[in-house]
Amino acid sequence: MTQDPTLVERVEYISINDSQPEEPGPVVPHERQIVDQVIAIWKEDPTTENLGVPKLHAIVKQKHPNWTVSEKRVKQLLKKFGLLSSQEQYTYAKDIKSELTPDIELPPKVQVVMTSKRGKCLYAKKPISKDELIWSEAPLFFVPPLANVHLVEHGSACANCGKLLQQTEMKTVLKGLDCDVCAEVWCSIKCKQMDAQLHGTLKHNVFNPSLKKPKIVDSNAFLELQEYCLKESWNALYAITLIYANMLLDKSGVKQKQFNAMARVSQDVRYKALDSGGGSFDNMNGGALFVQEQQETLWKEGYEKFLRVFPKDPISYKEFLLFMGTYNINNLDSSVFLTQSHLNHNCDPNTTVDTASDRISGLKVYAKRDIKEGEELTTTYVNPSHTLYQRQRELRVNWGFICTCNKCKSDAKESERRKSSSSSKKQDAKDIRNMLKETKKQVGDGEIELEIPHDNSTERRKSVRFDETVVAVSN
Ligand SMILES: [Zn+2]
Ligand SMILES: [Zn+2]
Ligand SMILES: [Zn+2]
Repeated sequence: MTQDPTLVERVEYISINDSQPEEPGPVVPHERQIVDQVIAIWKEDPTTENLGVPKLHAIVKQKHPNWTVSEKRVKQLLKKFGLLSSQEQYTYAKDIKSELTPDIELPPKVQVVMTSKRGKCLYAKKPISKDELIWSEAPLFFVPPLANVHLVEHGSACANCGKLLQQTEMKTVLKGLDCDVCAEVWCSIKCKQMDAQLHGTLKHNVFNPSLKKPKIVDSNAFLELQEYCLKESWNALYAITLIYANMLLDKSGVKQKQFNAMARVSQDVRYKALDSGGGSFDNMNGGALFVQEQQETLWKEGYEKFLRVFPKDPISYKEFLLFMGTYNINNLDSSVFLTQSHLNHNCDPNTTVDTASDRISGLKVYAKRDIKEGEELTTTYVNPSHTLYQRQRELRVNWGFICTCNKCKSDAKESERRKSSSSSKKQDAKDIRNMLKETKKQVGDGEIELEIPHDNSTERRKSVRFDETVVAVSN
């Protein structure tokens, strides 16, 4: 008996994909349309990430019957954009440099070890028991939520921590917790004290270069930059501006030295990983691949605005990109923590990092299980419940390395095992299809519907991959 392969393929794909309205006339799609479509297919159903090029091509054709695109072209494009899973992937871990941190006070059971391959690592000096608090720390640089900036300006959120203030609370806080110069208020004495110097520096300085001692910040330029960051949803630019102001206010210079000793990498080096691995990760650009030239224009625009905020202390464009890249790989919930930034990644980490809900109180690091003396302390940079493929890509794009932890190794084995078992299931489905076709032939009319048995094991999983904050890279 001969099979009709097109029929078999059609039946199979119709059952797993939403059909789309027919598009008129044949078109030759642009390469970015094809790549975006493949990424959209993966996003819709992560199980399709394991499919080979012929099947992906078939799904693309099914979604766009009018597209003139060969399997060969799909393959070439996936290769060009570094999206073939078998392909050698661009990494930049080798470009990340770090130094031993000056003036750091380490928790009693923890020591820093400098390694050639993975930079600074934290190790347990003594055994640590499950659930034990290993350390707590306040942020080295606190960065409030950019989204609350307008609420802060109207006195509806704390000028330091960004906490939203209730009406009744606002009346009480006005007792000494408001700014004498502008409309901003703080939620507590603690916040007011913490913020006093930075607030005045950023918000109340009219820059006058003819003054004997010109101020370090031009407040008008800062307010303009703040608006710009909001408009572009550019959290990293906002953050490094606040951090740089903080550094300049720190007369000892220690904070700057500590930041500069962190794992350092330039944003343009990170961007290459994004460009080679499906730019659609990028929330900021709405799912379209953002071309390098556009990205550079944006960086330069941001750099100009940054320079205007600090007329006395300019940095070079190269330093600016380094600043941004370093911030992006080291921040946690926007803020930067000194000891925590030493923790390396593992998809099955032995610590849990708890950040306080009020944001400014800092974080607490607990042992997730018993930790032996001499064991490395690890955290996870990505959501451990994501699939192997998602984690690998997030880690490669955002932190520049390919994870080879035990969880990744065992997940890879598991996925191999599933692949071979799913091909045997496919064989079963094929046998049933043949049987149905045979029956149909015997009955001799079209009344019997060809139905593929539903396979519960491949039920569509909710995809979180592109919706979550991997945004760091975009900034
Ligand atoms: Zn506050
Ligand atoms: Zn003020
Ligand atoms: Zn891993």
